Formats: sequence, C-alpha cells, structure tokens
Amino acid sequence: MSENQSTMEAGWNLDNSYARLPETFYTLQNPAASRAPKLVVLNEKLAAELGLRAEALRGEEGIAVFAGNRVPDGATPLAQAYAGHQFGHFNMLGDGRALLISEQITPQGDRFDIQLKGSGVTPYSRRGDGRAAVGPMLREYIISEAMSALGIPTTRSLAVVTTGTEIIRDTVQPGAILTRVAASHIRVGTFQYAANWGSLEELRALADYTIARHYPEAAEDERPYVRLLQSVISRQAKLIAKWQLVGFIHGVMNTDNMALSGETIDYGPCAFMDAYDPATVFSSIDSQGRYAYRNQPGIGAWNLARFAETLLPLLHETEAEAVSLAEEAIAGFAEQFHHHWLTGMRGKLGLFGEEEADEALFDDLLRLMHHHQADFTNTFRALTLGKPEDTAMFGSTGFTDWQERWQARRGRQQESLEASHLLMKSSNPAIIPRNHRVEAALEAAASQQDYSVTEKLVAVLSNPFAYTPEQEEYTDLPEPSSCRYRTYCGT
Ligand code: AMP
Ligand code: MG
Repeated sequence: MSENQSTMEAGWNLDNSYARLPETFYTLQNPAASRAPKLVVLNEKLAAELGLRAEALRGEEGIAVFAGNRVPDGATPLAQAYAGHQFGHFNMLGDGRALLISEQITPQGDRFDIQLKGSGVTPYSRRGDGRAAVGPMLREYIISEAMSALGIPTTRSLAVVTTGTEIIRDTVQPGAILTRVAASHIRVGTFQYAANWGSLEELRALADYTIARHYPEAAEDERPYVRLLQSVISRQAKLIAKWQLVGFIHGVMNTDNMALSGETIDYGPCAFMDAYDPATVFSSIDSQGRYAYRNQPGIGAWNLARFAETLLPLLHETEAEAVSLAEEAIAGFAEQFHHHWLTGMRGKLGLFGEEEADEALFDDLLRLMHHHQADFTNTFRALTLGKPEDTAMFGSTGFTDWQERWQARRGRQQESLEASHLLMKSSNPAIIPRNHRVEAALEAAASQQDYSVTEKLVAVLSNPFAYTPEQEEYTDLPEPSSCRYRTYCGT
C-alpha cells in the first residue's frame, strides 16, 4: 500500500496554519522514532468526530503515526515556542516534549491541533529527555475525557501508545506518547514570548491568527485587540467557574498552561477534591498553595493581566489609554466569574430565577461542608437524589436549618419540584475521576500492562450525569489514609 493510500484510509486531512506564522514562533521538527510501539487506548468516538477511521488507526500504519514513526501526508510537524510565568517566575519554555503534527480539518470543516506529547527532544527541551511515562499520559487521557463528558471545555485525548523504550523517573517506567487534540495550543505564554522576543509585527501576526482561529467576530470590531482581550477573559471566567463547580483543581495554572481557546489544558498535577476544603492543594511542588482550589479564580485573573500586558502596544497608540483599556477588561473577570458561579450553584441546588439571599444560601452550605469535611461531589449527589446519607453534616442541626431555608426557596419558585430535580441532575455529576480510582487504573497499566481498568473507568466516566446503578461503586470514597493524595508535574 502506498503512503498516500494509507493516509487516505485513516482519514487524515491535514493542514498546518501555524507553520504560516513567522518562523520565530516554532521550529520545524519531526518526532523521534519509537522502537516497538503498541497501541494502549484509542478514543474511537473522538476519532469519528475528527473524520478518522478507527480501524485504520489501529493498524500498523495508523499506530506508526501515534508513535512518531510515520508523518502522515500533508503534515508539517513543529515544536511551538512559548514562554510562561511558572509559579510567578518568568521563563522561556516551548514544546520540550511535544510536537504539533498538524491540524486536522474535520468533515464539518472544524480545525483541531493534533499533538504528540512525549515524542522526543526539541530545541526547547532544556535539560528534559523529551519523553513521557505511560502512567501520566493515561492520567491525562482519563481526566481530560472525563472533563469533556462533564461539559467542561478541554483538550481531548485521541490515543496513547507505549514506545517500547523505558524511561527514567523516580523509577524506571514504560515510555509512552499521548496524541492530544485541541482547538489550538496558543497559550498566554505564546503571547508573552512574542511580546518579549518578537517584533511588534510578529505580535500582531499572532494576535490576528488567534482572532481568525478563535474569535472571528473580533475582526469586525472597531478595536479588534480589545475585543480579543475581552473575549479571552470571558471564556476563562466561564471555564474557571466550571472547574470550581465540580471541585476540579488544575494544580499548575502557569501562564503557559492557559489556552486562549478557553479549553482546560495540561493535566499534570490536577485532581478532583474529595472532602470540601477551599485550601485543597494536591501538587507536590505547590508548597505555598498558590494554585489551591480557592485561589483559582484569582490566579486566572493574574494570568489574564499578564496576557493584557502583552497586548498593550496593540490596544491603543497611547500607552496610558492602552493601560486603562486593559484594566477595564481585567476588572470584568471577577464580575463574570461571579455571575457564572452563582448561575452554576443555582443549577446545583435546583433553583430557578434569582433571589438576593441565594449567595448566602450557597456560602452557608459550603461552610457546613467544610466544617464537617463533607465530600464535595457526593454531597450534591445526595441532595440531588433527595436522600441525604448518614454523614456528620447531614445529621447536624446546622444542616437541618439550612435545608429548611433551601426548601423554602424552592417552594417560592413557579417551577415544579420535578423540574428542579432535573436541573440538579444535569448540574451535579454522580461521578468524577476519583483519585484512588485513577491511581488503580494507572497502577494496573504501568505494572501489569493491564489497560482494562483504564478502559472501564473511561467508559463509566463518559456519562457522569446518568445516575446509573453501575456508577454507584465509583462514588465510593477512598479508604481513610494518613497520607495526603499527591500529584506531580512534568512526569
Ligand atoms: P508542563 O509542566 O507540562 O507545563 O511543562 C513545562 C515546560 O517543561 C514545557 O516547556 C515542557 O515542554 C517542558 N517539559 C516538561 N517535561 C519535559 C521533558 N520530559 N522533557 C523536555 N521538556 C519537558
Ligand atoms: Mg504545560
């Protein structure tokens, strides 16, 4: 079979618009070859949405693409340049272990980045080996797909292959490559790179590219770059509110991990909170709690201020005017976040319309949950099912008082209790990727090459609002443990 035929069979329909940006934004580079690639998981549903044929992707030629052993026709692989504030410190970064293979144009005409993560060193690798271990790549697969099913904008995962080469981390682990699918990989850090090391024309080219790709309406605006800033802020306010509403902690909200598309990106040290505690942090290196649950909205605004700074020369000819336009836009973040959070909390408690006292009702419930260390997901699940379980919080008089206020509020609305219940059911996931479940799946994969636990978990998480009997066992909490759950960056 010729190269061309096999490309057609898989359905690759590639273009690389990013490669038409000024060269300062990337380095052309092919992936390193994998010695003995094996397909571990393939996301057949996503493949179909992309216009790809699963059967061909599972074949030798298909796997060769995921393994970096074959560049499909029409692809222009490249490593993207970007910078970023990591824990507040500014660094030059770039794709140190990832390559943008190209952009797949779907049958609907949408454009998605196809990126290999773990495909070898690039000029941006610094001291890294350019590789990834199977555990963390499967972790990204599981959690990103769970986020998508939760209705949260996110990069997606198409496939994971093991490479046949072991890599060295704390222990020796099987090397792997994740194929990531994203609306784009343009980050706040990409603009920081342009503003610091590029010319004004290069910065403008990046801004125009971002507008064309994600915010075409801004091109029609009298002030396109102000509109770009406002639009990015709006999407992030909405996104971070969604994280808060399911107890998702990103864990490494560096500016290079904030995508301008408004998708969640970078599933390194992220995790879902069990017991509600606003100070929750999982990441092993976040000793100061910079990226703790309660800090996520504030950090979001901080990152967006860094983005706004990069745009200043484009916002207005006069610097003072540009600064004031940027400040005004940034000020809108808190207000929009608050609006989305309130709307989301109303959904979680089955409330229609708005009452002045709603926010106090939400705050008081969260205070009770915090005090009694109530599980975040299971509390809202139990309220949805209308059968508060035998927990410290549900047995407390504080909760009984709160419940009376909640029932009274529900009683004042026109909508039926049935409608209220349905709203709750569609707002409160019955299941989330529980840390101990994810760990069990990764352990089976890394030590026994048993991927069935991962596949079952991914399947169960694909319909989090279903409230089916099979989901029941996945709502179990971890055994009490003396060690706090820990997650790791750059694994
Ligand atoms: P991350 O923590 O995944 O956002 O990565 C931060 C930066 O470190 C990015 O520039 C990555 O490309 C780079 N990086 C992370 N792991 C590796 C690795 N094993 N080899 C080379 N670069 C890496
Ligand atoms: Mg990153």
